Amino acid sequence: MESALTARDRVGVQDFVLLENHTSEAAFIENLRKRFKENLIYTYIGSVLVSVNPYKDLEIYTKNHMERYRGVNFYEVSPHVYAVSDNSYRSMRTERRDQCILISGESGAGKTEASKKILQYYAVTCPASDQVETVKDRLLQSNPVLEAFGNAKTLRNDNSSRFGKYMDIQFDFKGAPVGGHILNYLLEKSRVVHQNHGERNFHIFYQLIEGGEEDLLRRLGLERNPQQYQYLVKGNCPKVSSINDRSDWKVVRKALSVIGFSEDEVEVRTCLLPHSDVTSATELLGVDGLVLKEALTHKTIIAKGEELKSPLNLEQASSARDALSKAVYGRTFTWLVNKINVSLAYKDETYKNASVIGLLDIYGFEVFQHNSFEQFCINYCNEKLQQLFIELTLKSEQDEYEAEGITWEPVQYFNNKIICDLVEEKFKGIISILDEECLRPGDASDITFLEKLENTVGGHAHLTTHKLADGKTRKVMGREEFRLLHYAGEVNYNVNGVLSCTHSLCVVHPQVMCMSDNKILTQCFDRAELKDSKRPETAATQFKTSLAKLMEILMSKEPSYVRCIKPNDAKQAGRFDDVLIRHQVKYLGLMENLRVRRAGFAYRRHYETFLQRYKSLCPETWPSWQGKLADGVSTLVKHLGYKPEEYKLGRSKIFIRFPKTLFATEDALET
Ligand code: ATP
Ligand code: MG
Repeated sequence: MESALTARDRVGVQDFVLLENHTSEAAFIENLRKRFKENLIYTYIGSVLVSVNPYKDLEIYTKNHMERYRGVNFYEVSPHVYAVSDNSYRSMRTERRDQCILISGESGAGKTEASKKILQYYAVTCPASDQVETVKDRLLQSNPVLEAFGNAKTLRNDNSSRFGKYMDIQFDFKGAPVGGHILNYLLEKSRVVHQNHGERNFHIFYQLIEGGEEDLLRRLGLERNPQQYQYLVKGNCPKVSSINDRSDWKVVRKALSVIGFSEDEVEVRTCLLPHSDVTSATELLGVDGLVLKEALTHKTIIAKGEELKSPLNLEQASSARDALSKAVYGRTFTWLVNKINVSLAYKDETYKNASVIGLLDIYGFEVFQHNSFEQFCINYCNEKLQQLFIELTLKSEQDEYEAEGITWEPVQYFNNKIICDLVEEKFKGIISILDEECLRPGDASDITFLEKLENTVGGHAHLTTHKLADGKTRKVMGREEFRLLHYAGEVNYNVNGVLSCTHSLCVVHPQVMCMSDNKILTQCFDRAELKDSKRPETAATQFKTSLAKLMEILMSKEPSYVRCIKPNDAKQAGRFDDVLIRHQVKYLGLMENLRVRRAGFAYRRHYETFLQRYKSLCPETWPSWQGKLADGVSTLVKHLGYKPEEYKLGRSKIFIRFPKTLFATEDALET
């Protein structure tokens, strides 16, 4: 038999808290590597799950595995995403507190796979009734639909989610899933009209062309050949070996009908494939040809209540066409999500007080050669999530120790609030400045935005522009860039096109599209919004507002974290690339997380609750303790044999360092 020592040498520790040299990044990565080589892709930092993408199918997601994790204590079984799922579920049931599971990591790290595993776990292990079966089905089937319309092949991931997703799963008092709700964030609309080399447009287009039924294609006037369509071959990569578009089409069709789309709607949706000529486009969009033509070749600006029209040159006209395509696709995606939400909404009145587990699968931090407004939004989102993490774990943990008068080593961590403020502050935040330029009539341009940025926040410690304070210029930076020092590192953003990107809509599109007689499009482009003469919201402000709402939702719940790591850039099994992994460990904040965890206590309970629950285990506290609560708890734990290093007594709570101590006490109750 293998001795305990060699086993540990071979497979590492399953909780980083147990690492001997816990401050060493090298030891941290070595532990990850050992486990990865043994196909042990999950490791804890306390209650945070770290997951390394294996890039191969492991036999760890069977029904047997699900059963193994059901209702057992976190630390009694090996780390698994099912353990996190089960733990959240049980906390929700016993403490009646809404939960959320936040999944983060860079593109290709395994976030979406993890969220699907969690959903499957609930679908299989939660109690069910007939009605619940449909809900479970619909929850599961929403994935292929959203992936068809919102995922695409990128260089980094063959099935990359090009939108952020937050999904609530609602449970009734018996713990059965009864409904759901999805919020979507920032679909990468630019992909509709342009793809980088080696990348594709959204899956659905290729699925339709490959798998669509003959008569459907005929009616839509489509050909099977993707080369026919400019919008589909910009990346020169219509086929992907890991993807079978034809069978995926069948899966999506079936999913759409499970969710409750009518045949009609399935068909209409699919009309949105971008066409090259105006005639078929007008037919499919259901708008008048002349109106569309006018709209695509002229620019309308509303200034001081007056409409001004001016003709566009060829370049401007094609960008108007692209803008229209993006708007149509973006809005149809939102329509699709709404439709799914209607089908997931629980109908029964008795379920009013449902408990909720939220799943957040959202893009990780992005740094490319060329970073645009989209990367800016994505990274801003990650700053907000980091801020939430700090608020909910690091800061609140330290604040509580302080409030309770517990002595311990404070952990230094970087609070990124300063960066969030730089982006979102009223009047002098980057988004405010962008809005101002966006909505200012006259000579506003990408460059005037940059200049305003320089003048307003040029001296900020986290922002650099190409101009130096003394009027000279910085050579290392492009003229059209500004650099943000994010918590995860530096990123240069190019301002080229930022104004048109943020300007949520040129007024013309909704006007034209409202006239459409296509059933879905009229729902997407609401006439009511045209009458709204208020200052229009820019895309940046809309995103800021929706993020603020998301933070509010998450703040009201108890969080669990899944931190996903991508082992290599080649999408290959078995390859563990040190440099790449070290980078991710850094910007996921894992070392900081571990330091706080090590310094901290796993459990805390109010004296009263603790005494009430365990008083029967000690003759002096049973049936009731007459003295001070703190003394009662002290007597009780001494009787139970707690060692001094295992716990601390604060002003109103007992703090227990290791979970196993509490588990032992729980076990004693049962015997
Ligand atoms: P993006 O941000 O681009 O959406 P992501 O983090 O959501 O990326 P996934 O799509 O979940 O990444 O994973 C990428 C690929 O890695 C999957 O298509 C799958 O092939 C593989 N993969 C991820 N997790 C696992 C897993 N647990 N087991 C086996 N393969 C996995
Ligand atoms: Mg994904």
